[in-house]
Amino acid sequence: MEKITVLGSTGSIGRSTLDVIRRNRDRFNVFALGACRNAERMLADVMEFGPEFAVLADEDAAGRLAQRLEAEGSATRVLAGSDGLCRIASSPECDSVMAAIVGAAGLVPALAAVKAGKKLYLANKESLVMTGHLFVQALAESGAAILPVDSEHNAIFQSLPETEQRRLCFCSMQEAGVDKILLTGSGGPFRTTDLRDLASVTPEQAVAHPTWNMGSKISVDSSTMMNKGFEFIEAKWLFNLKNDDIKVVIHPQSVIHSMVQYRDGSVLAQLGNPDMRTPIARVMSYPERIESGVGHLDFFSLKELTFFEPDYRRYPCLKLAVDACWSGQAATTALNAANEVAVAAFLDRRIAYPDICRICSQTVEKHCGDAIVDVDSVLELDRRARQTASALF
Ligand code: NDP
Repeated sequence: MEKITVLGSTGSIGRSTLDVIRRNRDRFNVFALGACRNAERMLADVMEFGPEFAVLADEDAAGRLAQRLEAEGSATRVLAGSDGLCRIASSPECDSVMAAIVGAAGLVPALAAVKAGKKLYLANKESLVMTGHLFVQALAESGAAILPVDSEHNAIFQSLPETEQRRLCFCSMQEAGVDKILLTGSGGPFRTTDLRDLASVTPEQAVAHPTWNMGSKISVDSSTMMNKGFEFIEAKWLFNLKNDDIKVVIHPQSVIHSMVQYRDGSVLAQLGNPDMRTPIARVMSYPERIESGVGHLDFFSLKELTFFEPDYRRYPCLKLAVDACWSGQAATTALNAANEVAVAAFLDRRIAYPDICRICSQTVEKHCGDAIVDVDSVLELDRRARQTASALF
């Protein structure tokens, strides 16, 4: 039995993870659940999975949860705050951690799991975007294993030779005979929108992703392709890539989840229905395969598979992220912070859609030279970049 902690259990990835666990009760035992303030959802999950701990970052919500659980006669212990999340991520009693808290808030608990040598199922791409080299260093020191949940990275992982699968973050594309990683993305809901109409895009339009059903922040990031940019940065760290090793390909149907092009002309790809339970089940059962609840791809109903080069006039956020990737850690940390602030403001209707890119670009320009030496300096830069971004509305 694998004892697992699910961070971000009330969110989109968290719910899919719990569904995979529900289908494989003989393999997994939920050790702890962690989220922010959704006490109702947490209560229902605690009653179903009976974890030893339930943690809510929000103190008030944790208090309400504790009262409700006591009334139900539950033995689950409730903790609050970031310390509680770190505790369930690093407890000697748990074997593995699903890191699926959204945004920068996911970094410290994910790092706590790495430092404690856990098997880490990484969905929170922001961890690598914010601290890539420090994260990799912590992995090297603790010997923790990392397995990528993000569907694209999971597809690349599945298409690489086993030697590289078993040394993520330290792989060699050269030794694996890889010519290029082809990182696919759907292009989001505005792939064919007239460029002039992008100025008046609403939050409802931006979150309506054509193929994937995800949380609101990542859905907006998919529409700007900032998400693909973050995945580009995540791929650099996960697969130890150099400048020419990776290319973004727009593939609107989201059937191919990414590809690896080899020196001999072969291209290996992973295909499937767009449902995160597939990559989640893949990492949780690696190297075996388990039931995920996802149906098989019906090749006879696939009308076409198409591919396009990304147009940076349509996706300036993608260009910003690719440039930040090769410019350095401070640039990607600042970009992540500015984007979180800008996307929240856009969802709140306080700024217009094109302002997301403007705010990110100006924030990166201001902070890309800042020094990063350790996690505290990352968090400090994150704080300063948020201030800068907020002052740009
Ligand atoms: P959601 O918005 O659906 O869920 C976010 C989760 O994080 C919730 O459980 C939420 O708790 C929790 N959370 C938010 N803020 C905090 C905080 N300060 N402290 C503790 N917990 C917090 O996000 P997704 O599931 O879509 O995404 C999660 C991560 O996975 C992101 O990093 C995303 O980039 C990545 N990812 C998502 C994919 C997807 O298909 N959704 C695909 C690939 C990667 P509460 O509900 O209580 O507020």
